[in-house]
Amino acid sequence: MSKVKYYYDPDTLSYRKIEPKKSRKYRNIFFFVLGAALFGFLGLTLLLNTNLLNTPRELSLQREVKNYELQFELLDKKMEQIEQVLANIEDRDNNIYRLYFEANPISEAQRRAGFGGINRYKSLEGFNNSEMIISTTKRLDIIQKQMVIQSKSLDEITKLAKEKEKLLAAIPAIQPVNNEELTRMASGYGWRSDPFTKARKMHWGMDFTAPKGTPIYASGDGKVIRADNNSSGYGKHIRIDHGYGYMSLYGHLSRYNVKKRQQVKRGDLIGFVGSTGRSEAPHLHYEVWKDGERINPINFYYGSLSAEEFENMLKFATQENQSLD
Ligand SMILES: [Zn+2]
Repeated sequence: MSKVKYYYDPDTLSYRKIEPKKSRKYRNIFFFVLGAALFGFLGLTLLLNTNLLNTPRELSLQREVKNYELQFELLDKKMEQIEQVLANIEDRDNNIYRLYFEANPISEAQRRAGFGGINRYKSLEGFNNSEMIISTTKRLDIIQKQMVIQSKSLDEITKLAKEKEKLLAAIPAIQPVNNEELTRMASGYGWRSDPFTKARKMHWGMDFTAPKGTPIYASGDGKVIRADNNSSGYGKHIRIDHGYGYMSLYGHLSRYNVKKRQQVKRGDLIGFVGSTGRSEAPHLHYEVWKDGERINPINFYYGSLSAEEFENMLKFATQENQSLD
């Protein structure tokens, strides 16, 4: 209530009430309504933001939602770790395994391709937490796809490794006679003087001197494709097809220990040293063929020789002496 104000009227010698002006009255009403509205609004906002209006069930649901949000955050952190580990595996896959086995690397785009076309996440839209749930689901989908691609890549590498193992077993990589002291190397691959004509002639293999009857071993896994005396100069000889374009040849034998079409493993006894064919003295003439060309066998002994032994053998094999043919 506003105070009633009076003034002194000298004409009537009495106090009179001051009548408030009409405009002022309306202004006061306006301010009162405005104040009430403001107060009401503030109060309502305060009420809605406190739990005074919520039922216990609503409160428990709210707590649950908060808990889910927290769990999603933790899941996101775990996914980040998984993504890092996966990225590391992929890196090794591309830069070590696939490189080693001469397979093309799998591109980043291929590994992390999302899912095009229809919106797979439509059913997750329209909720308060949609964004969070969709982003987590997307990440999981991509991780899942990365895993499938990685697993396929490792399958491929396993296959390649098995092939490589077969190739390594096939390559003619050991000396065909026991030669620990390296004293049996008589003549290497290259230009040598012919033991019969003394003219300079290309010697297409390596000669190992050894007494008649010394065992001869297959230098790699393969299949015997010839064991006969029908090739001029070689005398009784054996040819082994190792696959991958490799073949080895063993000449001037006294005896065979294998037959044509027989499968052999590296180190198997295939025959014995002799001096059949165009040969000056008992020895083994040994050749390695690759894609139909005769190549230097010395480049293949890496498996069975030390660096020093190889050096010595190389020195001896390159001497321009007389071959035994
Ligand atoms: Zn020879």
